[in-house]
Amino acid sequence: MESSAVEGDLVNILFTEEQIQTRLGEMAERIRADYEGEELLLVGVLRGAVMVMADLARALDRHLEMDFMAVSSYGSGTKSSGVVRILKDLDTDISGRHVLVVDEIIDTGLTLSWLISNLSSRNPASVEIATLLRKPEALAMPVEPKYVGWDIPNEFVVGYGLDYQERYRNLRDIGTLAPHVYSS
Ligand code: 5GP
Ligand code: MG
Ligand code: MG
Repeated sequence: MESSAVEGDLVNILFTEEQIQTRLGEMAERIRADYEGEELLLVGVLRGAVMVMADLARALDRHLEMDFMAVSSYGSGTKSSGVVRILKDLDTDISGRHVLVVDEIIDTGLTLSWLISNLSSRNPASVEIATLLRKPEALAMPVEPKYVGWDIPNEFVVGYGLDYQERYRNLRDIGTLAPHVYSS
């Protein structure tokens, strides 16, 4: 695949780079106000959240720490099952810390609800979630993200950290893939 063909594989752009940055700025403003005077630890969920972490952390423009976790959610194809395994744990002891989990998308919410109960058992001062995108199924889950960029319909999106078979994470915009990508 030619690198120049990458942007062309998107058929429908849902959010442009500019819209994403604007929305992250608004989320950052709320987060800054809510955590005023507190130490804040951002926990990014690898690999999808790397772009959101980088941009949200800079939009926050205040002292904070960043750490990452990698989890694998077993399931076939594009659906997760809720059976989660830690591939990379935090390097930080979060007991007594204010933790903000940063994710790019919540679909079923199974991965994050497992992660939140795992993190909660480590006695943090608080655990909240910031996600750029949320799909409808997540509304039925007990985990309630405090900060949500946008609610989107139930379709498969790529770009800005979101992959299809590990590709497209490096797109600046978020959109849906052209049908020819799936059939090739
Ligand atoms: P769930 O919330 O279902 O446990 O899983 C969330 C994870 O599924 C996300 O972190 C992401 O890796 C993947 N995922 C869910 N919906 C989409 C989507 O529309 N596009 C992409 N690329 N990944 C998705
Ligand atoms: Mg994720
Ligand atoms: Mg993926």
